[in-house]
Amino acid sequence: MKITIDEDHSIVIGEVFSGAYIETEEGNRIGFCLRDDTIEFNVLPKDGGKSQWHRVNMQTLEVEKMSAVQDPDGGEMSDRNCAVRERTGDGVSVGRCWFWTNEKSGVLTCPRHGNVTEIQKHFSTTRELGEDPR
Ligand SMILES: [Zn+2]
Repeated sequence: MKITIDEDHSIVIGEVFSGAYIETEEGNRIGFCLRDDTIEFNVLPKDGGKSQWHRVNMQTLEVEKMSAVQDPDGGEMSDRNCAVRERTGDGVSVGRCWFWTNEKSGVLTCPRHGNVTEIQKHFSTTRELGEDPR
């Protein structure tokens, strides 16, 4: 994470890859992280029940609601986030890719892993991550 102050005296938070929160006095939060060329954010009411992820489309400037499902480990996942298991060069699992997949004519494409359609289908029914198809 990189925090700077711009020429208008606004705080600028960059390099937010594992998430950060903005919180109201009442405890309502918006969590956000950088993804590809955009920002994804999660609305978290203080009651701790439901939350909802959104993604800003920087080309259309629209906010897209992301469909989220529960991760077996307790976090939230979406069927549109790439479900490829990331590994180090030594083959050690470091978790899910998470890149937002682009959908075109029924094909889901991850910017890093290419066509992940079958991996996403498998994930949707089993909740199991897939291996890098490259
Ligand atoms: Zn991926």
